[in-house]
Amino acid sequence: MQITTVIKHTVSIIIFTVLSTFATESVADDKHIGEGAKTLPLFDAHVHYKTEAWGPFPPATVIELMDKSGVAMALVSSTPDEGTIKLWEYAPKRIVPELRPYHSGIGSSNWTTADGMFDYIMKRLKKYPHRGIGEFHLHQLNADDKPLLKKIAKVAKEKDIVIHVHSDHKPVELFYSFEPNLKIIWAHAGMSSPPDIVERMMAKYDTLYADTSYRENDIIVSRNKLDPAWRRVLERFPDRFMVGTDTWVNDQWAAYAELVELNRMWLSLLSREIAEKIAYKNAERLFGRKVGKHLIGQR
Ligand SMILES: [Zn+2]
Repeated sequence: MQITTVIKHTVSIIIFTVLSTFATESVADDKHIGEGAKTLPLFDAHVHYKTEAWGPFPPATVIELMDKSGVAMALVSSTPDEGTIKLWEYAPKRIVPELRPYHSGIGSSNWTTADGMFDYIMKRLKKYPHRGIGEFHLHQLNADDKPLLKKIAKVAKEKDIVIHVHSDHKPVELFYSFEPNLKIIWAHAGMSSPPDIVERMMAKYDTLYADTSYRENDIIVSRNKLDPAWRRVLERFPDRFMVGTDTWVNDQWAAYAELVELNRMWLSLLSREIAEKIAYKNAERLFGRKVGKHLIGQR
């Protein structure tokens, strides 16, 4: 956990280094959307609204941040789920709620073994219109966790909602062994999984999606160049990636505009068709919601 925190903060610092050169660069040509990426409506597929954010970033402030950055809609999961519900109740047109199982001292390292976890999940799913279960972490696979994960996969399939998992590729494969056509969003595209593994997973599972939060600096190598292996996987599977900011700490909310700008920067290096899919069209299809600029300023 400690190491992850350090890495994440380091990544945030890199963002500003990369961004400082963005403003002067124009890469528009026939093959790239270029400056056009700056005005795409966005779907942010990785938002958290944790207790610590509620005071400094009340719901109206969060929606304002989204408005200012042209983020039309967001997939939100929170510790506890009440945070997600707060945002969704304030701005139902802008928020797709997703059920994170963490609450009352139950978090990433102990949620699979917590008493009553499946009942909690079912109770919350019954009460609110969540469109997914996650984002949850699976750091390592324990045989004891399998019965719970299997039940979660079954519920997600029956309700036709997504699973949003932060893990390496093995738990994703386990979920597909339970339910072959499950819709899974692979958080951070595996976080540290190299692009060849991401590509292999995408090729193997037709209903696997990924959000690219915290991968920005893997995807882009300089202001006008994508990493070739990442370009290859994004262009081979343009229908299955979505951008995300991952507001897991308040520093991320404070840097929201810059994070979104960084995402627009790498999108600018793709064709208009592909950039639009990754920016919002994939989310439209996945969640059955219309995402567009008409939502900016709305609740
Ligand atoms: Zn997250």
